[in-house]
Amino acid sequence: MSAYARDRAVVLGAGMAGLLAARVLAETYAHVLVVDRDQLTGVTGPRRGVPHARHAHALLARGQQILNELFPGLDDELTAAGIPAGDISGNLRWYFNGRRLSPVHTGLVSVSATRPVLEAHVRGRVAALSRVEFRERCVIRGLAASSDRTRVTGVLLQDEDGSGSEEVVEADLVVDATGRGSRTPAWLEELGYARPREDRVKIDLAYTTRHFRLKEDPYGTDLSINPVASPANPRGAFFPKLADGSSQLSLTGILGDHPPTDDEGFLAFAKTLAAPEIYRAIRDAEPLDEPVTFRFPASVRRRYEDLRRFPDGLLVIGDGVCSFNPVYGQGMTVAAMEAMELRDHLHGSARPGGLAFFRGISSILDVPWDLAATADLNFPGVQGPRTLKVRMGNAYMARLQSAAAHDGELTGAFFRVAGLVDSPQSLMRPSVALRVLRGGSQHGVAGRAAA
Ligand SMILES: Cc1cc2nc3c(=O)[nH]c(=O)nc-3n(C[C@H](O)[C@H](O)[C@H](O)COP(=O)(O)OP(=O)(O)OC[C@H]3O[C@@H](n4cnc5c(N)ncnc54)[C@H](O)[C@@H]3O)c2cc1C
Repeated sequence: MSAYARDRAVVLGAGMAGLLAARVLAETYAHVLVVDRDQLTGVTGPRRGVPHARHAHALLARGQQILNELFPGLDDELTAAGIPAGDISGNLRWYFNGRRLSPVHTGLVSVSATRPVLEAHVRGRVAALSRVEFRERCVIRGLAASSDRTRVTGVLLQDEDGSGSEEVVEADLVVDATGRGSRTPAWLEELGYARPREDRVKIDLAYTTRHFRLKEDPYGTDLSINPVASPANPRGAFFPKLADGSSQLSLTGILGDHPPTDDEGFLAFAKTLAAPEIYRAIRDAEPLDEPVTFRFPASVRRRYEDLRRFPDGLLVIGDGVCSFNPVYGQGMTVAAMEAMELRDHLHGSARPGGLAFFRGISSILDVPWDLAATADLNFPGVQGPRTLKVRMGNAYMARLQSAAAHDGELTGAFFRVAGLVDSPQSLMRPSVALRVLRGGSQHGVAGRAAA
């Protein structure tokens, strides 16, 4: 531990990013206080502060690996709780560009936990750390700063029901993990700093989710059926079976083509999916709730790393820095990768400076941001520069996915990249490129690359 007095860190928000930040902060801070506006104790279902948690969430392979490093035995704990687990490309049925990818076992694990259940298990592990304390049903009203405004010295908190008065809790470090609605840009302005520049990709996406008890099993040995949206068929879905034997169906529609919430409209949308077995499975199934919609107007990346000045004692992590088109399933994994960067930063630096941290996570964000933005730009209605790199990337990916319909090796290589385990360059290795060219020309390329 450095000479810098690391006494108290306060984490704002107990979503996945906040929990993972708390886990690594507890290695170097004597007290870690995690604040959230929701009740957390005993909660294993959706809560008000995380409305997106009602919708299908999958953890990518890299996220799975990091969670098991931070919380040894987590996969076993989930399995013991009855949560189905399997191979990401061997036991999940994937459709890209309208074609089913050839399955292959890569050894990359996927656990079919809903987001609230996964979060509850992670929260349980964090709560068991002696240095961590939770403050529930408590709203963050703002930051406290030194008189010269060069340093954040704490946070202003108030009970969620507004009963008590505002209270200042002092901290050596404040980590904002309040998600997409993070107020750090506004707080920076109030303290006399510039707001970060934002990159945006407008996608006008919506998820509509409903749970069912099925009469017939469409899964076989698979854990989930996932026809992913593509320009050829912009309607997508995630259809996992859950621990209690029910199924969750999240329909996704981009560029304003939002999945309806009425019975008929929901069914009609499901009928247009590239995986016909989903419609067949739900048309006579018992619905367990009403469909719920979540709208996601744009992917947003806040460029904190480009700021020239940033107050000491403050960091931002998770969706507050970058929130991705959710269909690529990157958010929780990126939050986990950022937590690992935070850990390195805390162990290496005498005094955790914001700009150095933001530069560190910026290089983590580049790959998933490029993967998502490139794939989004394949949809003709998404606005943005279609550089040669974007056009070639999409053309190659369409060819690879087409070839992967008959070549499990390519399915595996694709999921190692999409899972943020291998770099995108690994798909250009001669051994992979040859299979893509051979497969693509033998079987034709479905879907279309952006012009
Ligand atoms: C529809 C949808 C589907 C998704 N699917 C996936 C997926 O398949 N895989 C994946 O990895 N990611 C997915 N994501 C993204 C993922 O949910 C997030 O990236 C990830 O959970 C990290 O979020 P976070 O912790 O930064 O923020 P959040 O999950 O938004 O958590 C923020 C927390 O801060 C609290 N909070 C906010 N403001 C205040 C305040 N003023 N006072 C007190 N508390 C406050 C909230 O209560 C909440 O607990 C999806 C997102 C959406 C929208």
